[in-house]
Amino acid sequence: MTMTEIPGRASAVIIGAGIVGNSLVHHLAQLGWRDLVLVDKGPMPNPGGSTGHASNFIFPIEYSKMMFELTADSTAQYKDLGVFTESGGIEVARTQERMSELRRREVPEGRYTLVFVGYAPSDGSPPDGVSEIELTYNWDQAEPYQIGTGFGHLAVGVPDVAATVAAMRAEGVKVTREPGPVKFGTTVIAFVEDPDGYKMELIERN
Ligand SMILES: Cc1cc2nc3c(=O)[nH]c(=O)nc-3n(C[C@H](O)[C@H](O)[C@H](O)COP(=O)(O)OP(=O)(O)OC[C@H]3O[C@@H](n4cnc5c(N)ncnc54)[C@H](O)[C@@H]3O)c2cc1C
Repeated sequence: MTMTEIPGRASAVIIGAGIVGNSLVHHLAQLGWRDLVLVDKGPMPNPGGSTGHASNFIFPIEYSKMMFELTADSTAQYKDLGVFTESGGIEVARTQERMSELRRREVPEGRYTLVFVGYAPSDGSPPDGVSEIELTYNWDQAEPYQIGTGFGHLAVGVPDVAATVAAMRAEGVKVTREPGPVKFGTTVIAFVEDPDGYKMELIERN
């Protein structure tokens, strides 16, 4: 109930009708508190604090356990209220050891963008590129990826792709793409299959 006159008494008075004040009233009421008064200096329902400006994003990956629990609880509440819209996302890293973007390549002919990420040494020197993850943004991908289609394959750098493929073939490894320059580029690659049929890429690295 919204009122403009302050009642003579209350079991608790909460100042500030943003998300924090409102949540406090909600939780106290759930715990059985009655005669709660929530006051704000601004007009209701949007008194002008931060809450009215928020985009209302919540992230299930949080800095601390407490923040995570708060987010999980918020998610449950929004779902209960029927106001929760779930969207997707992937967080690669957010700690001190977060991956750095090592390089990026736009390939308009192939309508995709490649972003290579890896761990930069903590002393600030350039990343050595020993281990990298290649993220592909397919410009025309309309449908969401499914588990199994979102992840591509592992790639291993070798000094001589042709020689490696020849040696593997001699040992009975199935070669699914012969050594040669990558489409729209010059780097020599090849694809082989591991014993379970998963593709593995070989990339020439000197
Ligand atoms: C543009 C923007 C986008 C944001 N996007 C997100 C987001 O996507 N996800 C997210 O989690 N967070 C987001 N935030 C942060 C989030 O909005 C705030 O952390 C949150 O709303 C703070 O809530 P609050 O209740 O503490 O403060 P507020 O919403 O500011 O409420 C405080 C209330 O106290 C009242 N008040 C102050 N002093 C007095 C007084 N003396 N007497 C009476 N009333 C008083 C004010 O009028 C105000 O209504 C965003 C913030 C902004 C500005």
